[in-house]
Amino acid sequence: MQRAAPQTFDRVLSSMCTEPHPAAREAAERFLATNPGDPATYAEVGELETRTVTMLGELAGLGSDRPNEAEVRATARDGPPHGYVTSGGTEANIQAVRSARNRGDAAEPNVVAPESVHFSFTKAAEVLGVELRTVPTDADHRADVDAVAAAVDEGTVLVVGVAGSTEYGRVDPIPELAEIAHETGAYCHVDAAWGGFLLPFTDHEWHFGHAPIDSMTIDPHKCGRAVIPAGGLLFRERAGMDALAVDTPYLESASQASLTGTRSGAGVAGAAAAMEALWPDGYRREYERADGLAGWFAGELRERGFDVADVELPIVVVDLSARAFDALRDRGWRLSRTESGLVRIVVMPHVTREMLREFLADLDGTR
Ligand code: PLP
Repeated sequence: MQRAAPQTFDRVLSSMCTEPHPAAREAAERFLATNPGDPATYAEVGELETRTVTMLGELAGLGSDRPNEAEVRATARDGPPHGYVTSGGTEANIQAVRSARNRGDAAEPNVVAPESVHFSFTKAAEVLGVELRTVPTDADHRADVDAVAAAVDEGTVLVVGVAGSTEYGRVDPIPELAEIAHETGAYCHVDAAWGGFLLPFTDHEWHFGHAPIDSMTIDPHKCGRAVIPAGGLLFRERAGMDALAVDTPYLESASQASLTGTRSGAGVAGAAAAMEALWPDGYRREYERADGLAGWFAGELRERGFDVADVELPIVVVDLSARAFDALRDRGWRLSRTESGLVRIVVMPHVTREMLREFLADLDGTR
């Protein structure tokens, strides 16, 4: 049988996936046949998952209120962080909605989110029978706090903020959203699926240590350079995970909180290996590189007369004609449009200055 050529990233500008770290590839292969869904049987990968969640908690600001060992013994308090390695941001977001719905007692539960939320929340709403109320963003594509406050009511179980939006890379005003959520008796979830590995090196207020948020999505298989599938779901309180757990009579393990049953240990092992290799200095270097590159690229596009949105995290959104878009795609560039028709270029670890220079030369050739 002929083998298909492996994916190369040399013209991919539209994706939030990237080349995994070599250590992640190697670890993933070793754990391919393990199942972290049954940690009593697959203990080694179970321990790796605990370590991964602890590291994700550190990234996400849970480190400061983690009890030390003596406290744990004295109070029988274990955590935070609580969570697990999901199949990706979609599963983590669905599970955050499910946990909030299960913990609340609303007869007709709703989730309030800015219109910039990822489409996984539409899936969550459909699957879980929850109403998704999306509200307009402000002129700069961030959640509009007044619009969110006006949309919540006694049926609201979850208020969602995005820390690194999929289209514009914007960070919502998370402390304000958490306040609105808690005033109405709802939980607050932050979707940092893409931004979570970049934001620790910025001065944004986005994580558990900056605001009393309750849960977070933070995906190693995006900017964390793990292998796919490796998403992350974190809760401040154990009750968040408990609300997801079902009994698992035929397994050695007594209960399971993940949405999928059997899941690949490759995702967990890859995430652990990538974070051990890169947190924090490797991720910091990559954030600084991508941030500088995005700023340079936006400047090059503006000099050519294109309309470019302000860059917050390394996503460059530019207004290109349909003719240029099609011509670039014909030359092999993988590009996608935002809902409003703009072109979005995600500066992931595989995106280099050479690559963007080639892109600009091709763009110049279309004019
Ligand atoms: N949340 C955000 C902010 C995203 O950008 C994405 C994907 O791009 C997701 C969630 C969904 O993640 P996945 O595709 O890993 O399910």
